Amino acid sequence: MYDVKSSNAREFISHEEIMATLAWAQENKNNDELISHIMQKAAEKKGLHHREAVLLLLGGESGKIFEIAREIKRSFYGDRVVLFAPLYLSNHCVNGCVYCPFNAGNTEMPRKKLSQDEIRREVIALQDMGHKRLAVETGEHPRHSPIDYVLESIKTIYDIQHRNGAIRRVNVNIAATTVENYRKLKAAGIGTYLLFQETYHEGTYNQIHPSGPKSDYVYHTEAMDRAMQGGVDDVGLGVLFGLADYAYEFCALLMHAEHLEAVYGVGPHTLSVPRIRRAQGVDTGSFSHGIDDETFTRIIACLRISAPYTGIIVSTRESGECRKRALDAGVSQISGGSRTSVGGYDMPDEETRQFEVNDNRSLDEIVHWLIGIGYIPSFCTACYREGRVGDRFMKLCKTGQIQNCCHPNALLTLQEYLLDYAKENTKKAGEELIGREVIKIPNMKTREIVFKNLERIKKGSRDFRI
Ligand code: SF4
Ligand code: SF4
Repeated sequence: MYDVKSSNAREFISHEEIMATLAWAQENKNNDELISHIMQKAAEKKGLHHREAVLLLLGGESGKIFEIAREIKRSFYGDRVVLFAPLYLSNHCVNGCVYCPFNAGNTEMPRKKLSQDEIRREVIALQDMGHKRLAVETGEHPRHSPIDYVLESIKTIYDIQHRNGAIRRVNVNIAATTVENYRKLKAAGIGTYLLFQETYHEGTYNQIHPSGPKSDYVYHTEAMDRAMQGGVDDVGLGVLFGLADYAYEFCALLMHAEHLEAVYGVGPHTLSVPRIRRAQGVDTGSFSHGIDDETFTRIIACLRISAPYTGIIVSTRESGECRKRALDAGVSQISGGSRTSVGGYDMPDEETRQFEVNDNRSLDEIVHWLIGIGYIPSFCTACYREGRVGDRFMKLCKTGQIQNCCHPNALLTLQEYLLDYAKENTKKAGEELIGREVIKIPNMKTREIVFKNLERIKKGSRDFRI
């Protein structure tokens, strides 16, 4: 049944293979010799097969796992952490997802859809914070958010130039759709197409998606194949932890990544690891698979080890303290200053939010905090704009060369942020950080270019990239 290259969701995410993997890992989780062998392989930074990864997750010694994960993250991405914000366009939705307050049956939820003028106001508010990279989100609704509305909204976002600001990368998180629509998204210039599986466990999936187009497990699970057939270069997978057994989800997530790599020659660009959160009209107590912070960060570390070349994203669903642990375990992108309501940046509105935010700090506070804990906040969007996408990106990443771009671009975009948006204390800490970091750029030519461009930014120019 299991076939990594199959075009059938039930074969590339084979339930039997997952169960056999879990059983094998349970049997071997005290097999020190085997685990030590997998640890050695992990340290080579070339990733792990899903069976090895699950054994590591269930049986590996924590200290060693975190040490390898940290080392892998440092050697591929350095200390930069990319920042982004979600932008909710509409909360009208025809689906019945029981874990989401936007579900069609929630009559208490005020429904809202942004007009193009309202989108402009949202984007200006986001630009005034300093954001350059957005993840556009919308509920699924044939009348309120058809593909043409999404495309028009993307164009509106890219067209807005406000003071020194512009959104330079729009990632899109919309419902599973057709190859033709993915082609349209690609033509609109999207960055990553994001679609979370929520759960790979088909029985659970069917229970928690009782109605609407999303209730079709196979159509949803095969969406990334259609996206890639439609020419989308970068796709982002994700699981909503808490819906089903975490080891099952972890295994399936890696199998999905292996499938994309086997068929299209390039794995997912990012992995997202949201955990289920309290929200209006959602009884989170009815989900019995919640995971604690320790398991959560262990999952992140094992993902970092198993898929070293993939970005890992954690949102403001998590508290600041947990996000620090997640960053240390291998997360490379975080959201900051997020609002999960429709129109919430321009007009804060608690009633229409999708989930409760646990990290309520402003973007500036997040930037200041990242600097203080030893990371380089980055507003970089260079790869997508330089055509370093899909397999071209992965090639650079696998050879470890991407850091030669990430590090200088983080410094250049941080410099822009400091001049245009930062508060005084952030500015001071950021300038000191840039001063310390710029002399670490190993390539002399790149270092000179960065020195020159930092000066140009100080004189008013913007948007340099390596
Ligand atoms: Fe709609 Fe998405 Fe919420 Fe499901 S998770 S109800 S598809 S907005
Ligand atoms: Fe991301 Fe590429 Fe910028 Fe690195 S250089 S932060 S991979 S966009």
